[in-house]
Amino acid sequence: MVSPKKFRPRMLREVIGTLVKAPATVNYPLEKPETPKSFRGRIVFDSKLCVGCKMCMRDCPSGAIRIEPTEVEKRFKCAISLDRCLFCAQCVDSCPRKALATTPEFELTCFGRKGFQDLHK
Ligand code: SF4
Ligand code: SF4
Repeated sequence: MVSPKKFRPRMLREVIGTLVKAPATVNYPLEKPETPKSFRGRIVFDSKLCVGCKMCMRDCPSGAIRIEPTEVEKRFKCAISLDRCLFCAQCVDSCPRKALATTPEFELTCFGRKGFQDLHK
C-alpha cells in the first residue's frame, strides 16, 4: 500500500498535469473534426462507370445496395439504404469499374426511414 506521504505528491503531479494538458475531446459539432484519408463515410456512385455487373450487391454483407437499370440503355442507378449500410466499403472494393467510392461525409442523420434511401442516378 502507498503511504499517504508518497501518495500526495503523486496525486498533485497528476492533477497539475491534467490541468495543463490539451483536452482529449473535440468541440463537435461547433468544430468539425478532420477525417483521415481512408475514412469510410457516405458511398457515392458514378453511373457513367457502372456496367451493371452487381458484384457490389452480391458482396454487400447487409444487403444495403441495389443496382437497377434505367430507361437509358446500359445505364444503371444505385440505391443505398443508409440505415442498413455498415460503411464497410466492401462494395467499393468489389466494384471492378471503380464506380463506387467512399467520402468523408458522416453527418447522415434524418427524421424517418425514408430519408435514409440514398439514390444515385
Ligand atoms: S459500405 Fe458495406 S454495407 Fe454499405 S453498401 Fe457497401 S458493402 Fe454494403
Ligand atoms: S460492382 Fe460496380 S460496376 Fe458492378 S454493378 Fe456495382 S457499381 Fe456497377
